[in-house]
Amino acid sequence: MSKDAFCNMISVSEPGPGDGGNTGSWRVVRPVIDTEKCIPAKTGKPSCFNCWLYCPDAVVTKTIPPTIDYTYCKGCGICAEECPAGAITMVAEASFTKEEK
Ligand code: SF4
Ligand code: SF4
Repeated sequence: MSKDAFCNMISVSEPGPGDGGNTGSWRVVRPVIDTEKCIPAKTGKPSCFNCWLYCPDAVVTKTIPPTIDYTYCKGCGICAEECPAGAITMVAEASFTKEEK
């Protein structure tokens, strides 16, 4: 079998947010980005974006600064683990007011 024919047989899936509705309602802690520490926010340059890269739900934007779609963020904490600048803190949902949620 040729390489091209083999490549046509490979299925590729890409992560996408929220086929299951407002899945962020499960969250008990939310990631909060400190733009004073976030590398692209501090430098104004498109660098790092580990949070965007590693988020399994594809809910972080690759923008300056990065933003998080809390409608779908599950609060897994992977972004905080992978942030090299310690710019993401996982904060208890209970500490936010209704307006902040
Ligand atoms: S991983 Fe941390 S430093 Fe890098 S873009 Fe995300 S918040 Fe900023
Ligand atoms: S807590 Fe998990 S789901 Fe939410 S933005 Fe971070 S990596 Fe993505």
